[in-house]
Formats: sequence, C-alpha cells, structure tokens
Amino acid sequence: MAAPKKQQKKKVRINKNLRCQLCIEGISEVSYKDTYRISKFLSRRGKIIPRIRTGTCARHQNQIANAVKNARYMALLPYTNNI
Ligand SMILES: [Zn+2]
Repeated sequence: MAAPKKQQKKKVRINKNLRCQLCIEGISEVSYKDTYRISKFLSRRGKIIPRIRTGTCARHQNQIANAVKNARYMALLPYTNNI
C-alpha cells in the first residue's frame, strides 16, 4: 500500500507594500450600514479576509470585523455564500 501523497498548500502572495485603505481615506468609524465598503473586505465565500492580505491596520480590522458581524445579524450581509 502506497503512502498518501502530501497535499501541497496553495501559496498566497503577500504584498508587503499594502497600506490601510481606511486610514488613507480618513475614515474614523466603520458602520455596519456601509455594506458597500465592508463587502470589499470579504471573500467570495463571505468570510472576512485577514489583514495581512488587505493591509488594514489593527484598529480598522477590528472595526471591520465588528461591522461585518453586526451586518450579518441585521441580514445585510450573508453568513456564507455558496458558489
Ligand atoms: Zn487603518
């Protein structure tokens, strides 16, 4: 019996030159009602994209995470998105 092949992990390219887009735009508070802005930080599946991939700062990432969770509860954003 042959040993199972090791699954290769997909390498995610990380751009270290990314800057926090919300800091550049000068947004101090992220609202759950602003679904257009929040949806840019969600994957196609509806998951929150980690800040290493979007370049968001810790303060804004925290605000985004809370806004997404509020928006999901208010049925403005989906919990999951089946493709
Ligand atoms: Zn920021």
